[in-house]
Amino acid sequence: MLWKGSSVKLPPGVQLRVSETARRVSLRVDAPTGVVLLVVPKRASLTRAADFAEKNRKWIDSKLKSLPPPVPFADGIDVPVGGQSHRIRHRPEMRGTVWREGNEIHIAGKVEHLPRRLTDWLKAEARREISALVDRHAEVVGRRPARVTLRDTTTRWGSCSPTGRIAFCWRLILAPREVMDYVVAHEMAHLVELNHGVRFWRLVRKLVPDVDTPRRWLSDHGIRLHRYG
Ligand SMILES: [Zn+2]
Repeated sequence: MLWKGSSVKLPPGVQLRVSETARRVSLRVDAPTGVVLLVVPKRASLTRAADFAEKNRKWIDSKLKSLPPPVPFADGIDVPVGGQSHRIRHRPEMRGTVWREGNEIHIAGKVEHLPRRLTDWLKAEARREISALVDRHAEVVGRRPARVTLRDTTTRWGSCSPTGRIAFCWRLILAPREVMDYVVAHEMAHLVELNHGVRFWRLVRKLVPDVDTPRRWLSDHGIRLHRYG
């Protein structure tokens, strides 16, 4: 690789992305991960690309500042579950793993295990709720997915393959119920219509009463869900 062994320094918060298709050096905000990407064509000069980033440092800093702050999983923070705020409580003296009490989530064990335990619990909740929605929509759609997987995708909330495999971002558990419901309905409708045509949207609207509000919610607030953990 052209860049190997190079010692060119980039401004803080900037990551290099070598692109096969880009024609010129550019800066792009990758909101879900909270970094600014310096997109550099494969054969461009890295030194010049770094100069370009340096020259745009003000722009980079203002973009980074405007992103929602990261929320690491820790005692005392609030995490939305199904869109409802839940207070995280570390219970080092307790046995067991993770449990919910009203609007609190209690996590036993050592503090260093708290983030992983909470993440595992949220993923399990996501799997449980998504499975229930898949079952419900399958009755209307008349088809079942070949497989349902959970991922930590930053670019897509859900996807459906031509072979009927459906994947979801586990962070949908942090969104309001109707948002998760809409994303599941969207992918389930793709089992019949693998496109975004008129018949596809007609089917989605048969599955969920409101399509526009969840879509707007995701474009307005979806980024925040990636800042947790
Ligand atoms: Zn789609």
